[in-house]
Amino acid sequence: MSKKDIDWGSLGFGYIKTDKRYVSNYKDGAWDEGILTEDATITMTECAGVLQYSQSVFDGLKAYTTEDGRIVTFRPDLNAERMIDSAKRLEMPPFPKERFLDAVDQVVAANADYVPPYGSGATLYLRPFMFGSNAVIGVKPANEYQFRLFATPVGPYFKGGAKPITIRVSDFDRAAPRGTGHIKAGLNYAMSLHAIVSAHAEGYDENLYPDSATRTYVEETGGANIIFIKGNTLVTPKSSSILPSITRRSLEIVAEKYLGMKVEERPVPIAEIAEFEEMGLCGTAAVISPVGKVVDHGKEICLPAGMEKMGPKTQALYDTLTGIQMGRIEAPEGWIRVIK
Ligand SMILES: *Cc1c(COP(=O)(O)O)cnc(C)c1O
Repeated sequence: MSKKDIDWGSLGFGYIKTDKRYVSNYKDGAWDEGILTEDATITMTECAGVLQYSQSVFDGLKAYTTEDGRIVTFRPDLNAERMIDSAKRLEMPPFPKERFLDAVDQVVAANADYVPPYGSGATLYLRPFMFGSNAVIGVKPANEYQFRLFATPVGPYFKGGAKPITIRVSDFDRAAPRGTGHIKAGLNYAMSLHAIVSAHAEGYDENLYPDSATRTYVEETGGANIIFIKGNTLVTPKSSSILPSITRRSLEIVAEKYLGMKVEERPVPIAEIAEFEEMGLCGTAAVISPVGKVVDHGKEICLPAGMEKMGPKTQALYDTLTGIQMGRIEAPEGWIRVIK
């Protein structure tokens, strides 16, 4: 085996077809045994539940090459559990946790030549997803489903280092209080597309969604949770409609156990943003993107960390978490799953 001839350093965040993906089908009340296949296409009825009523959920994680040359994944058990929660909320049969972990191992091992080398900044992104595949015309859950997991190499999210971004408080809602904001469903992204296209058209990098009931508290952006720094404290917004980011939950542990910081998870009023020293977005794709400015209907809130680089606490969180993922810093028990 030898690595594919890819210019790892210039990869973007896009789809590149790799050799093998994992597929399992659910029919007559049971998942089949699942296989690795070279077939990257899906054929199904025009009336499939996913096509008519968007019955689909997904998740996202990465495989990394560590400093000592192993290929590992980061906390994939949490992705498995989150996808089970997502499936249940949309009345889909959960894909069992042990089978999910086995599918991740198989797909990464089968595409090992696509796992970017240590130090390239690139990683192998893994996309597990599940959808209703049989014909559904009256509104109800499908009774046949497909679970699929593919891999695609992706470049460093920010080429040449993370520059602080500018985000706006959105006039659109992302998630209703008792809706589906806390699960990873494509439908949450479909409804955010108009908001992100218009944010970009107006010169903003992202939307900050307030809570949709009162529009006074910070929730998250379209695809990342939010972190704030005040003194030696990491503050993260708490709400039942925020997606439980694995990056955010890991950063909370890193802050407390590795950096000696205090951690608070609590409702954060938009009016409090001006009192923080640093702010960032966090998720698997970029780990942390620093936020330099928040625009709330014409009112500019400039974070003291500025528009040039990450603030010092954000940088320490970023360096420690990526150090753990790349094997430079010892990980807490159970965080790293070695594939080979
Ligand atoms: C996936 C996602 C995140 C980030 O979660 P990670 O597990 O850290 O990748 C945050 N918010 C939303 C809405 C998401 O879909």
